[in-house]
Amino acid sequence: MSSYELGTKCVQGGYTPGNGEPRQIPIIQSTTFKYNTSEDMGKLFDLEATGYFYTRLQNPTNDMVAAKIAELEGGTAAMLTSSGQAANFYALFNICECGSHIVASSTIYGGTFNLIDVTMKKMGIDVTFVSPDASEEELNAAFKENTRAMFGETIANPALTVLDIELFAKVAHSHGVPLIVDNTFPTPVHCRPFEWGADIVTHSTTKYMDGHGAAVGGCIVDSGRFDWMAYADKYPGLCEPDDSYHGVTYAKNFGKEGAFITKATVQLMRDFGSIQSPQNAFILNLGLESLHVRMERHAKNGQEVAEFLEKHPKIERVSFPGLKSNKYYDRAMKYIPNGGCGVVSFEIKGGKSAAEVFMKNLKLAAIETHVADARTCCLNPATSTHRQMSDAQLKAAGVPAGLVRMSCGLEDSKDLIADIAQALECV
Ligand SMILES: *Cc1c(COP(=O)(O)O)cnc(C)c1O
Repeated sequence: MSSYELGTKCVQGGYTPGNGEPRQIPIIQSTTFKYNTSEDMGKLFDLEATGYFYTRLQNPTNDMVAAKIAELEGGTAAMLTSSGQAANFYALFNICECGSHIVASSTIYGGTFNLIDVTMKKMGIDVTFVSPDASEEELNAAFKENTRAMFGETIANPALTVLDIELFAKVAHSHGVPLIVDNTFPTPVHCRPFEWGADIVTHSTTKYMDGHGAAVGGCIVDSGRFDWMAYADKYPGLCEPDDSYHGVTYAKNFGKEGAFITKATVQLMRDFGSIQSPQNAFILNLGLESLHVRMERHAKNGQEVAEFLEKHPKIERVSFPGLKSNKYYDRAMKYIPNGGCGVVSFEIKGGKSAAEVFMKNLKLAAIETHVADARTCCLNPATSTHRQMSDAQLKAAGVPAGLVRMSCGLEDSKDLIADIAQALECV
């Protein structure tokens, strides 16, 4: 599939049926797989032969869908996880251990921020957060002798900052460390971080990839380019024999192309077990089949809604990287020239109560804790995710009381704009 265009890979990647085989990917709803001899199975356990033996480690349906996502991102290997949270945790924990340090962009998704800042700290893994707008010198200064990973989001949820992937990758590589990029918001349709130097890409497939609010899931993709063996002292987990797996040395046995995902599969998935169900992988694949068509519409709707809001007298401020007035416009033109995604955030004059009246009067856009759905949805952080904070605290956290995050769906933009206009009349 590698010579085909992205849209063709969305539709047909990952699975090529043989003569008389199912056209759609089969759902292998089986926990286990049958073998004729213990010897046959032993070879699988020794990683001498490839095959399936237990769905917690690998399942054929999941592997077909992961292979499609690897093709879309231009990677060499990929694995599905039960959620985006699991994907980011596995991607980091695959190369970090007690005593390691991570450099991460400060504007990442709240769940990932919490994972790194609170939960992984309890495992003895430290972090330094850096501004996505930090200079090369500032980024360099965040690195320590024990830094093992750099992390950021292409378009941050919900801050909508755009990551300077090329700069982050350059700095990470100068310290002998890989750059992990969460590419959930633009998806590979609108940005492929590997083309800008990233080494590992993660996804919450719950968002645009599924795109229909139907299945929680995640994915990790490896570019196959990071030379673990060149920094063997930093990555003993990949470069020294794994006693918990018959002394296999992942970087040696599976090379740059396969080491990262093989270790994450046979070690982390074995021990933590956050596998995606084959049913969900099938649903995810239905979403992927139309991803290229949908992303175009999401981005177009986001752009049109943002442009409408920017001119509206009841709106204080609009944040959308595709607006010329946006701080990240130049970076967006470099990394997401065809548009990023459909998420727009804006501040209504009149604060929390105005946002409440506005949202209550929307007819098409529903109030939900979700983004990246076919159906438009919105959220006022001040009265939901951040409701325990005072107005002053909200301001300090960069979440003004009147802020609304709207995820533009696939509806006709004329109807979305008319809905927003009538709801603003009520404020
Ligand atoms: C939602 C989200 C996550 C977490 O994914 P889940 O599938 O909800 O676990 C991680 N990163 C980003 C950018 C997200 O938007």
